[in-house]
Amino acid sequence: MILKFLLKSIEEKTDSNDAVDEYGKEFKKVVMSYFKRISKKIAKKYGKVTKVDLLLLLSKNNIDDESLLDETFVEEITYQINMIFEVSGHKALKQLGTKAEVSTKEVSKLALQYATDHAAGLITMIDETTRNLLRTEIANGVELGLTTDEIKYNIMNSSSFSEARADRIARTEIVNAHIQGNMQTWDKSGLVDKVEWYTGRDERTCSICNSNHKHVVKVGNAFPSGSFHPPAHPHCRCDLLPVLNS
Ligand SMILES: [Zn+2]
Repeated sequence: MILKFLLKSIEEKTDSNDAVDEYGKEFKKVVMSYFKRISKKIAKKYGKVTKVDLLLLLSKNNIDDESLLDETFVEEITYQINMIFEVSGHKALKQLGTKAEVSTKEVSKLALQYATDHAAGLITMIDETTRNLLRTEIANGVELGLTTDEIKYNIMNSSSFSEARADRIARTEIVNAHIQGNMQTWDKSGLVDKVEWYTGRDERTCSICNSNHKHVVKVGNAFPSGSFHPPAHPHCRCDLLPVLNS
């Protein structure tokens, strides 16, 4: 019974890979547009100031929050996370069938709650990293004796705002939203009390995730690597499968 259900799951369930393929481009676009907007804003602001000001800025250890504030990003990222969670949750629910003790409407509510909470934390984290990367960029520029124009150029082209960083954020957050959509739906359904780790198609070499592959744990318990659920690391494309209550 359980085995049959799992086999069916693999065929029918959207896995993390599918989710990344489906939403990756759009999600990355949202992050890249944000990077473009704030890099312009920051370069404009710090490109104008003198080196003394830049040094002062570094000594205060401070890139102000105002430069990183972007309402559009908050809205767009919340929308993306909400949508991915919701689609994955609804699919998980469909799979469980009529015995599930949760409705599609309740799953949508969970999606909005998760998206709102998670987006706030995610943006704080992204901003923190951006500030650190920019501080390094400015400090290096000052130390190398670059002109403010050169520092401005370096800020615009810094790894803080690279495609690679946008890609990493997008992939990680898609898997996060997808897994949370599944897990929270399973949890509320009353039908699932264990989950099985399934490594991504392209992760045969990742030893962290390989140690979890095909391990079954009670919901809320850690897998052998110490992770409670994927993503176990940036670029992790692992997935979870539900194991029905016996
Ligand atoms: Zn993984």
